[in-house]
Amino acid sequence: MSLPSMNLSANAVDFIDEGHLHGLLSGEKPSAVRIREIISKSLNKEALSVEETAVLVRTDDPALHEEIFAAARQLKETVYGNRIVLFAPLYIGNDCINDCTYCAFKRSNFRAIRRTLTPEEVRLQVTALQDHGHKRLILVFGEHSRYDADFIAETVRNVYSVRSGHGEIRRVNINAAPLDVEGYRKVKDAGIGTYQIFMETYHHATYAAMHPGNTRKGNYLYRLDGLSRAFEAGCDDVGLGVLFGLYDWRFEVLAMVRHALYLQERFNVGPHTLSFPRLRPASGVKFDEKFFTTDAEFKRIIAILRLAVPYTGLILTAREKPELRRELMSFGVSQIDAGSRIELGGYTEAGDAQVMEREQFSLADIRSLDDVMCQLMSDGYVPSFCTSCYRSGRTGEHFMEFSIPGFIKRFCTPNALLTLQEYLMDYASPETRRVGEKLISEELERMEDGDMKQRTIKQLEEIKQRHVRDIYF
Ligand code: SAM
Ligand code: SF4
Repeated sequence: MSLPSMNLSANAVDFIDEGHLHGLLSGEKPSAVRIREIISKSLNKEALSVEETAVLVRTDDPALHEEIFAAARQLKETVYGNRIVLFAPLYIGNDCINDCTYCAFKRSNFRAIRRTLTPEEVRLQVTALQDHGHKRLILVFGEHSRYDADFIAETVRNVYSVRSGHGEIRRVNINAAPLDVEGYRKVKDAGIGTYQIFMETYHHATYAAMHPGNTRKGNYLYRLDGLSRAFEAGCDDVGLGVLFGLYDWRFEVLAMVRHALYLQERFNVGPHTLSFPRLRPASGVKFDEKFFTTDAEFKRIIAILRLAVPYTGLILTAREKPELRRELMSFGVSQIDAGSRIELGGYTEAGDAQVMEREQFSLADIRSLDDVMCQLMSDGYVPSFCTSCYRSGRTGEHFMEFSIPGFIKRFCTPNALLTLQEYLMDYASPETRRVGEKLISEELERMEDGDMKQRTIKQLEEIKQRHVRDIYF
């Protein structure tokens, strides 16, 4: 058990030029013509520059906001189809040596009930998640010498080894402290999916105020460089994030896009996902509300990010209320968590009660996976548990190659339908199953006639009649 070294990646630089980003934000109000030019570039599925993103951020014309929203919806539909990928978070341990002002796990929060799941407790949680129908998890850790790369890798292997009925976890993502290159190699060997590190805020002074200088997380460059080290270690599947509410959202959007473009330029692969958690109430935490992000601003954030990075997944979590999640789904979100419990042991022990001292923050959407599935499908979305790309080697640079000519839609719709059919057979309530069967036949109707459609129909029958599982293209 040891903390990773603080070594940086080769040629690590602080690429967040605040003067430049603030300069872009203080430019004059853009014309409608300019906004539309940028929108059409994005609709052609070209990533936007930071400067172009800034133009979208700068407009305060509600009619142009509506055009941005409509474009985000259109882009989501053309790149991802009507598919929404579902996952659940699994908190493994909340010991933490840092003192992030906004987080209930901070070391100075003596009210927090500290706990690290034992391997057997992890298995129980995973069994419960499988029994609800989950196939994709994100494991979440505080920062502590107990949670070193060996521990994370061991936990990942443990999760993959659990089998309950037809259940299995096919993809394990990680949200944990930054590692060193050697540490990333270890977790990669355990078969992780995405390694997420949220920068929280890219604004240096705010970062320093939120993360005391005498803590590991207080080192801005070490965190900023965290995912570059992952690439150096061969992990080409990474997720960025900003905790909205700490500083001006406009600045954070530009900085996150800058980070995405930096990774793309340096490693030839952009981030796989972007996350945009908003601050939630948490035990032992008092907030300065100055930079709280309103729902209206939040919508703009998501739509602008959708347009800025057309091929990057956008993750919307259960920190947001069900109604808002429902509305934001159409803005270009590609992944959501559902049936989430974030207290340690919460999938078997806590029921629906949220006990602040046991969790990092409170959730606003604690509906069951089945309820979320049913609503998504009633709204015309296809919930997907697909993990095919990662398991067929379509990640990183290859994933980009596949995604650009529209492969996502061609592979993803059939795979989403296959994983949905599995869910309907094994876990769905009668109502969800009824809604789901109808949706699957409508989706099949819509598919182009041809080999892929025939194969999909045949595989759906294999799942239904012969109880075959884990079929994918
Ligand atoms: N300890 C690791 C770290 O800091 O990178 C793992 C992440 S932490 C357990 C998961 C994320 O939760 C943080 O990166 C932060 O963005 C978010 N978070 C922390 N406190 C929060 C709060 N009060 N409301 C909403 N999100 C919060
Ligand atoms: Fe620890 Fe992460 Fe919470 Fe900071 S955000 S106190 S590092 S768990």
